[in-house]
Amino acid sequence: MSDLSLSQRATEKKKAAPAFVPADGKIDQDLIFSIYDRLDTGVWIFDFDEKRMLWANRKALEITDADSLEELRSRDMGSDMSHSVEQRLRQYQQDFTKHDVSFSEIWTLYPKGKAEVLQVVMSGIRLNDGRMALLCEGRPHHEQQPETLRSAEALMHTTVMISLFSEDGNPLYRNTAARAASTDLECTLWDHFIDKALARKVMGVLSEKATTKFVAEVLTCDGLRWHEITIRRCHDAVTGKPAFLLSEIDVTELHQTKERAQYLASHDALTGLSNRTYLKERLLQVRQTAQENDLIATLYLVDLDDFKMVNDTLGHAAGDHLLQLVASRLKELAGNNDIVARLGGDEFLICHLSSPESPRPDWFGQALLQAFATPQMIEGKPRHVGLSIGYVHYPMDGSDIDELMRHADLALYQAKSERKNKCVRYKEFMRKIRDKHLSLKKDLERAIRANEFLLYYQPIACTRSQRIVGAEALLRWQHPERGLVSPDDFVPVAEETGLINEIGTWVSRNVADMQSRLKLLDVSVPLSMNVSPKQLSDPKFLSRMENLPKETACNANEISLEITESVLLGDIPHAYETLMKLKAAGYRIVIDDFGTGYSNLAYLHNYPIDGIKIDRMFMNDIATGGAIVRLILSLATALDATVVAEGVETVEQRSWLSENGCNRFQGFLYSKPVPEEQFVDMLQAQIRAAAM
Ligand code: C2E
Ligand code: CA
Ligand code: CA
Repeated sequence: MSDLSLSQRATEKKKAAPAFVPADGKIDQDLIFSIYDRLDTGVWIFDFDEKRMLWANRKALEITDADSLEELRSRDMGSDMSHSVEQRLRQYQQDFTKHDVSFSEIWTLYPKGKAEVLQVVMSGIRLNDGRMALLCEGRPHHEQQPETLRSAEALMHTTVMISLFSEDGNPLYRNTAARAASTDLECTLWDHFIDKALARKVMGVLSEKATTKFVAEVLTCDGLRWHEITIRRCHDAVTGKPAFLLSEIDVTELHQTKERAQYLASHDALTGLSNRTYLKERLLQVRQTAQENDLIATLYLVDLDDFKMVNDTLGHAAGDHLLQLVASRLKELAGNNDIVARLGGDEFLICHLSSPESPRPDWFGQALLQAFATPQMIEGKPRHVGLSIGYVHYPMDGSDIDELMRHADLALYQAKSERKNKCVRYKEFMRKIRDKHLSLKKDLERAIRANEFLLYYQPIACTRSQRIVGAEALLRWQHPERGLVSPDDFVPVAEETGLINEIGTWVSRNVADMQSRLKLLDVSVPLSMNVSPKQLSDPKFLSRMENLPKETACNANEISLEITESVLLGDIPHAYETLMKLKAAGYRIVIDDFGTGYSNLAYLHNYPIDGIKIDRMFMNDIATGGAIVRLILSLATALDATVVAEGVETVEQRSWLSENGCNRFQGFLYSKPVPEEQFVDMLQAQIRAAAM
């Protein structure tokens, strides 16, 4: 307390004259003062507010090097008092106002520049005007070693909060910083912690270890803060009894930054849901909880059906809005303890725990479908949002998280491919199908490298003249073991895996070559090739098709691209633009398998359609009047599109078509698909026949 000192001239260090003490014990005030003056302990009263000494006994005058009490009282202690001393005095004043406590501290005074080390016991004393003043009892503290003195000083000035508690948790000592932070000086060690479970855990650790360090939330006079706390087992220096020594530093800012960083790393920024990284950790916990408590954990994988379309047609803002909407609906429906996570893109995961007695552990999936059965408002407009859900039950459908996720994924895959049942539980057969697909995929990759594909051609003929007026190129796979494999057995997997892009490139190249070759042979007929929707959404497809005439000298006007109705229904982004550009490059656009898709025909006239192929299933319809075929034919006339009837197997069918204005047909009646050479032969024979 150097600030309390002022350089003073020396006082005579004489004791007051001895006084007689009345034997009846009736001691008057003067006598009390003279007794005080005989004490070897400095006693003084300090006025917090005025920052002046109010009273001091003789020993105190000696310590402060004061001439007289008047001189000491006249000193303005506040004039050169440092901010930290001022703060500490205010703290004492508050402590004494709130609690009847006393503190013992070691002070160093510097009267006349000479260090005077005192052991000071401080307590509060009320003035008769009601204010709280400081009562000090100071004793010279000569026996202290310099190191101890310094450490005592350090203890008082440090911002580290240091406190000592008895073994049963009662407070024994708090340094200035600990007192300043404390809301209640009587607060026990246990009550110090907000998280009681953590407090118990810490005590458990301390029963085995001498020291422990952790970060915990504590209540301070600045509200809830995060402290890094070190607790050490020790002995109270005064009683020798076991005690706990705590040192604490405030790490709130650091903790919050860390928490924020952790939150950002573990949550999806768009929806606020857990992300994939964090999910794994949480699922492991859930699995353990389920295992320990004999519960069923159900994992749902949820995928939006037309998300890509929303993103592509309405823009990314609408796509984001949709994801946020789905995320909040999922959170609404899920219980507080359920995990709701976004796996990325438009895929979500929900994990729910239920008891084995629960009649429907899969209720959530159905509830979810129901919640999305009605249109959702996206950017102010009602839209239907389709969901597909695949789910698994732990422990029935898998034992570890990876396996459960794989199986849920298989179930989701199944749900995606089904029209009605959109919430599917994993079944063993799905794994078998997937395994088959995987090996087929590998085989296809090999086949592409080994060039095992070839094209067959199926003639398209005139229903009247029965002359060949075109042909459709149909893909075949010459498999080294399986023989000739039909496209139905591998095209779906090629589409799913994206390999169709590479295979399709090969097909278009070969059709173009064939077209040039037929031209050279003077037997040219228009050719058709099948284009899968997947190819249309491949950005490279268009440029390849545009370059094809330059590269192969083919005539694009003589090539038809057969696409399915689904392309026109909005599943493919930028379908319209792509088709327009293909048409601009000279190709004809033909709708394949017409009539098998959605029966909404209104979209047709919006697209640049040159032809329609009536699906072969309608050929059976001819025997019973052919109403649908007639309808399609009139529609084609309205659209100014050419028509090819597919799958014509009987003479009756062909005659009916001819009579009803359908000029072209394709089917086993005329010819099965045949190898390239055979098709060339057919064309040459036709030319020869005509010449005769
Ligand atoms: P699609 O485009 O509808 O082709 C017509 C299919 O009907 C061919 O089967 C053909 O052999 C068969 N067919 C022709 N006439 C008749 C008939 O009178 N009766 C019956 N029952 N069937 C007949 P294929 O060659 O097995 O091809 C099956 C499908 O594979 C094709 O159906 C097409 O969707 C796809 N595909 C074929 N080649 C390619 C290709 O190069 N690329 C793509 N993406 N798909 C292809
Ligand atoms: Ca076709
Ligand atoms: Ca067809």
